[in-house]
Amino acid sequence: MCSSPSRWSHPSLAGRLLWAAPYSLLGLLIALPACVLGARLQRRDHTLECTGGRLARWVLRLPNRHRIVAITLGHVILAVNVSAMQQLRAHERVHVRQYEHWGPFFGLAYLLESLWQTLRGRDAYRANRFEREAYAKGGPFTP
Ligand SMILES: [Zn+2]
Repeated sequence: MCSSPSRWSHPSLAGRLLWAAPYSLLGLLIALPACVLGARLQRRDHTLECTGGRLARWVLRLPNRHRIVAITLGHVILAVNVSAMQQLRAHERVHVRQYEHWGPFFGLAYLLESLWQTLRGRDAYRANRFEREAYAKGGPFTP
């Protein structure tokens, strides 16, 4: 029995959740302890959003260069607070779609792209094709 090509090019939600599951599990390994430390976990569509808590306040105390305001791991989006989540949700959801497309290979693809941009003398973050796509489709914001 064969599947039609469109079935492969448009996998089901279950397929996309499963394909990105290794990173979603990593996200949960961060989100669940964050919840113990006061963060709020909320389901929104097919993502889990984790905001606030003491872990986030600790992240906000890091020097600017190392400070992450929001990060996506599979279907888990972590943000330092509700305001950051609201500002960055569209951007982070582009990353969710990238995880759904690349699955377990996304982390390696992202790192290799950053390395490639660095070798070309460009900014590893801003020039990264995955970030450029997220900025282009996720709307403007200043990280
Ligand atoms: Zn991004």
